[in-house]
Amino acid sequence: MDIRNTTLIVIGGGPGGYVAAIRAGQLGIPTVLIEGESLGGTCLNVGCIPSKAIIHAATAFAEATHWAGDSKIGIKVANPSIDLARTMKWKDGIVGRLTGGVGALLKKNGVQVIKGRATLVDGKTVNVTPAGASEPTIRVACEHLLLAAGSDAAELPMMKFGGRVISSTEALALAEVPKTLAVVGAGYIGLELGMAYRKLGAEVHVVEALDRILPAYDEELTKPVLAAINGLGIKLHLGHAVHGLNDLGDALHVKNAAGESVHLPADKILVAVGRKPHTAGWGLESLMLDMAGRAVKVDGQCRTSMRNVWAIGDLTGEPMLAHRAMAQGEMVAEIISGKNRHFAPAAIPAVCFTDPEIVVVGLNAAEAAAAGHEAITAMFPFAANGRAMTLESTDGFVRVVARKDNHLVLGWQAVGKGVSELAAAFSQSIEMGARLEDVGHTIHAHPTLGEAVQEAALRALGHALHI
Ligand code: FAD
Ligand code: NAD
Repeated sequence: MDIRNTTLIVIGGGPGGYVAAIRAGQLGIPTVLIEGESLGGTCLNVGCIPSKAIIHAATAFAEATHWAGDSKIGIKVANPSIDLARTMKWKDGIVGRLTGGVGALLKKNGVQVIKGRATLVDGKTVNVTPAGASEPTIRVACEHLLLAAGSDAAELPMMKFGGRVISSTEALALAEVPKTLAVVGAGYIGLELGMAYRKLGAEVHVVEALDRILPAYDEELTKPVLAAINGLGIKLHLGHAVHGLNDLGDALHVKNAAGESVHLPADKILVAVGRKPHTAGWGLESLMLDMAGRAVKVDGQCRTSMRNVWAIGDLTGEPMLAHRAMAQGEMVAEIISGKNRHFAPAAIPAVCFTDPEIVVVGLNAAEAAAAGHEAITAMFPFAANGRAMTLESTDGFVRVVARKDNHLVLGWQAVGKGVSELAAAFSQSIEMGARLEDVGHTIHAHPTLGEAVQEAALRALGHALHI
């Protein structure tokens, strides 16, 4: 056995773990990062990045197809077609560049990366089984142990992954566009990828247990997405229960609210019903940490119930977002180095990359009321924004929520094409304690979608200019 010693061990090289290790390296903390699969974790390899690449390709293809049938603005396109294998190769190239970059950054900052599966011996000792080996061959001892093992796709008990039943991982690596795709779950993954595959030409059915799409967002925000889903010809089955495959195994058996059976043809069935923290199979239970449901329980500094054992990212539960994992990772490295840090963001942005996109930061009106604020709210529609018109995307709006007494901005919500890029402005205004006047009196470049942000603030003050 190869025995090593370090100050910090990080288990998992996803956005949480690799950012923690880079920051620890910058701060001079001797650090070992153990990754069982590929640096970059879910996010870079089978999550955020590949999904956005495919969404981009699907949208470009849908636009080409659109112009082939409609030359309103003078563009002519003849018979566009898609070679999905090449699209996937292009996507893999982006993933490779990013994961290679993470490896280079870790090396530059002096982090020792061990490729292999980690198993916990105790809160200060980890065994590593390198890829291809059947037994651990490396043992690393540390002062601080950071758990960043991420999450796995949730399975449906009556329809396990395998064959035509796939998770997002397989959906991001299909060799050809399925003729028929059934999607279970109208959440983030189901709608981001369901819309993309519809644009690529698949016949798509989406089955959702609840009676609405994207239950994490308020209903007004999801209306333009619902309209787009209908416009694309996706067949939505709300309030339906999934009963597994049919007898022949080539269709999805669902039941509507009245208990009537419906069989949806499906070359592939994408199950996207949430993710669960990756807590099994690597000895985590032996530490007997306090848990919060299925997630590892942490305090405001990402400390677990065991001294000098820390946890971040998806392993610690909702919201399972890459930027949250990164922020936690950076913070833990700084605390270990002696800095006084707490995880207390004023807000964590959430973006859904459907078409149109949704972005929320902070509180909506109902949440503000529930938190005891007397709030004012105002909305500015993209229909009144010149840039949106030139982009042919006037569906959607920006909405602001602010305290009535002092106009402190409490939250932003937006839906529309490209609004994900407004997340930075939204987050900054809340983190910096902006008032409506600060946003309304900031000169926003013309013509941009951002002018709708300024106008929403002005409208909340009662004097919007362009509506
Ligand atoms: P992960 O990224 O899951 O990394 C954990 C790592 O730990 C993995 O590499 C794993 O191999 C490794 N590991 C686990 N156990 C061991 C062990 N015992 N030994 C060694 N290594 C181990 N979030 C966003 O913010 N924006 C998005 O647009 C977005 N899109 C997504 C799209 C899809 C399809 C999916 C599935 C997720 C998406 N997410 C998105 C969520 C995002 O990917 C996760 O929140 C993020 O990756 C969590 O980071 P993490 O570091 O906690 O864990
Ligand atoms: P999700 O929680 O977003 O959506 C799951 C959906 O499945 C919900 O609408 C739920 O009501 C439905 N559902 C649950 N059980 C069902 C059943 N038996 N039958 C039918 N419907 C059912 O989960 P997801 O889409 O799998 O994504 C997992 C997580 O990954 C997200 O919560 C998010 O944290 C992360 N993610 C983020 C992004 C992003 O930031 N843009 C993109 C993709 C994934």
